[in-house]
Amino acid sequence: MRGKLVVGNWKMNGGLAANAALLSALVAGWEPLPGRQIAVCVPFPYLAQAGAALAATTIAWGAQDVSEHESGAFTGEVSAGMLAEFGCRYAIVGHSERRQFYGDTDVVVAAKAVAALAAGLTPIACVGETLAERDAGVTTAVVSRQLDAVLAAVGANAAKLVVAYEPVWAIGTGRTASPEEAQAVHAALRAQLARAGAADVALLYGGSVKADNAKALLAMADIDGGLIGGASLKATEFLAIVRA
Ligand code: PEP
Repeated sequence: MRGKLVVGNWKMNGGLAANAALLSALVAGWEPLPGRQIAVCVPFPYLAQAGAALAATTIAWGAQDVSEHESGAFTGEVSAGMLAEFGCRYAIVGHSERRQFYGDTDVVVAAKAVAALAAGLTPIACVGETLAERDAGVTTAVVSRQLDAVLAAVGANAAKLVVAYEPVWAIGTGRTASPEEAQAVHAALRAQLARAGAADVALLYGGSVKADNAKALLAMADIDGGLIGGASLKATEFLAIVRA
């Protein structure tokens, strides 16, 4: 049986003092639960801080992006090997904010997933449609195209992925997909993963998940956890989601 994985995406928030308070509240408040895994994806400069705070715990950590390149003249980029040195388990790839503001294409996202896997990291590959795409009735086509690019690139390693369905219109907007809307997309993604021999990949939902809507979302058959933005910045709210 698949367990549940809840990952916090801090985005570009935090600072040494605020992170110390948040990390120690997570460590103090987290009581391991069978079948529940928890992780935080922090800004690059705070990976060492997260690692030091979490190393002796069952809370994993990771990054919010990774370069598709191994090393070299790529100013401002961070390689998967560097992330591995900092103890990261996860690297988010293809978050909609990367796609929207930094031009990450399906091809680049797929290459980032390959680079993460090559360094022993688990890519959390994000897919999701915009509101215009949902209104045009092309949600499944969009997410399946995005996932296909990653599946084609990672080949036999598909089972090592985590995939997050994050409707763009639900991210940071306070508007969330209903459990049934999310489940319908997850079922389509699950079928696509099954065709690639990776039916048991953890399929997370993300988009304005809060303590009060998490239980209903996590109860859906094909929702294996959550990718949590805003609500991951408050320890009590985030832990309530993990326990939901
Ligand atoms: C996210 O950034 O992945 C996200 C889902 O954000 P929020 O929970 O704030 O909508």
